Amino acid sequence: MEKTINNVHNKTLTNKFLNELIEKNFNWAKIGNLPTSIPALAEQDPNLFGVSIHTVEDESFNAGDYDTPFTIQSISKVFALLQALIDNSEEKVFSDIGMEPTGDLFDSISKLESFNNLTPLNPLVNAGAIATTSFIHGKDYDDKFNRLKELMISISNNPTISVDYDVYRSEKETADKNRSIAYFLRNIGAIKGDVDKILELYFKQCSLKVTCKDLSYIGAVLARTSGFNSLSFSGVEIPSRYFRIIKTFMFTCGLYNESGKFAVRVGIPAKSGISGGILAVVPGKMGIGILSPPLNKKSNPLAGMRLLEDLSDRLNLSLIQ
Ligand code: GLU
Repeated sequence: MEKTINNVHNKTLTNKFLNELIEKNFNWAKIGNLPTSIPALAEQDPNLFGVSIHTVEDESFNAGDYDTPFTIQSISKVFALLQALIDNSEEKVFSDIGMEPTGDLFDSISKLESFNNLTPLNPLVNAGAIATTSFIHGKDYDDKFNRLKELMISISNNPTISVDYDVYRSEKETADKNRSIAYFLRNIGAIKGDVDKILELYFKQCSLKVTCKDLSYIGAVLARTSGFNSLSFSGVEIPSRYFRIIKTFMFTCGLYNESGKFAVRVGIPAKSGISGGILAVVPGKMGIGILSPPLNKKSNPLAGMRLLEDLSDRLNLSLIQ
């Protein structure tokens, strides 16, 4: 199978091309490090490297370890935001959470006290994401989690998505920083309710297992949401505006304090996670899923970002031309 994408290099998208990109960028992973904040993630195989592309015409291209499951980590923040918007309203969610990019690390606590009227900066850094998760509705915390999982299952079309309990427990046992953030958020009134339960929900959403293939499928769904008033997932009509909102945050805030550089170099909405995953969306064209666990100092997957940069360059995918 092959696909010619309209682009300046007239490059053809094939599995072979993706294999070449993996080979070209493999060495970047060697200068990265596995995360230590969640001990179970430090056990990951640093040599894993996979990529999947799913086009809006439903063709798929894969290379490397594209079928290896890994925990979704921060990529889940995108779905928690979608669920929070569905359960509340745009006004409600963004009265307590900001919309601005951050210059700080993903789990920074520093600006909470000093900046922005005591609200977290945006829904894709940990402080904002924990607040976002606290907005999810349900009759109890199991129900809240199941509703979020169902939404992910529906968008990924993969009913087998489930929690990696080793990673979940590992994060739960070592999450002093996220606990500090969450208690601080309650102290400033940015979250209400049972802090420990909210954190457990957050750790569980981060521990859902996906593959590059799942992420590329999800990305293709997100690539196709324009031109509709609403789209139906897990029995709910979701305004297409909410999809636009989550993709906009991916573009401006998806790579933490490296989002600006990534926008210049790659130019497409994306969200990284500390297990080495990246979900990327080329609106109207394709979804991309990547796995490469070694991270740079800003907690982004080194080789995965380089691969995306090559892909964007060779296929001319940047939204800003
Ligand atoms: N569960 C991780 C944390 O909150 C997610 C961070 C990430 O993937 O960047 O620390």
